[in-house]
Amino acid sequence: MFRLNRKNGVSYYTISSFEDTGLVRHGFSTREGGVSKGDYGTMNFRFHCPDTKENVLENFRIMAETLDMDYKNIVLSKQVHEDVIHTVTEADRGNGITRDNAFTSVDALITDKRNIPIVTLYADCVPVFFLDKRLHVIALAHSGWRGTVKRIAMKTAEKMKNDYNSRPEDILAAIGPSIQECHFEVSDEVAEIFIKEFGADTAVRYGAKYHVNMQRAIKKQLSEAGIPAENIDDSGICTYCNSDFLFSHRKTNGKRGNMGAFMELI
Ligand SMILES: [Zn+2]
Repeated sequence: MFRLNRKNGVSYYTISSFEDTGLVRHGFSTREGGVSKGDYGTMNFRFHCPDTKENVLENFRIMAETLDMDYKNIVLSKQVHEDVIHTVTEADRGNGITRDNAFTSVDALITDKRNIPIVTLYADCVPVFFLDKRLHVIALAHSGWRGTVKRIAMKTAEKMKNDYNSRPEDILAAIGPSIQECHFEVSDEVAEIFIKEFGADTAVRYGAKYHVNMQRAIKKQLSEAGIPAENIDDSGICTYCNSDFLFSHRKTNGKRGNMGAFMELI
């Protein structure tokens, strides 16, 4: 279950199954609690947009403090809608925060190192959280429609199995706030890809147009990787439906900030 928390004026979601393990600090931000203004207001983690770098860094600082993480240790992804999964080490501390982002293509982060917050960014695309509760491995995957077609969620789970010997039954997974079937209208071409790759129930006709259900396609991938259905949590929260509270690229025609998924092993 995704739970909404409020602390120091910051609103953010946590996943109760992850909290119950006591192994991680984590959260998925909303628009509330930051210093940015207007279309980017207020908790924006998007660099390279009309919002200032100072605001974005201050938002990272506030969010880290709220989640009891060390801001200087954050490792930020470099999302380009590909399927590269980066294994985070001590050397990555501060990447994209205290220094320039050294990555060129990183849509998922994975680590077994403690006290290194990994962060991925969102505004409609699907955040997928992973936690091996037996071996203490965490991962975050950014799964937009392209990443979903590239099966980045499945590949992340497979990497946990291959590189860390994770057993699928020990992996908890959670699908965070993102654009849902109600609002994710796509071209016929994209719909056909989903139908072919993931089945007819992942692209549904709404009148003349198809709407894609990325979350359903991702759940199928997680099952394919062997993760039991009872280990998978789906927030069911639509960013487009809640664009006053959550950033939505579609709803705003791109005039929006980014939300962040934050997680670290304790
Ligand atoms: Zn919606």
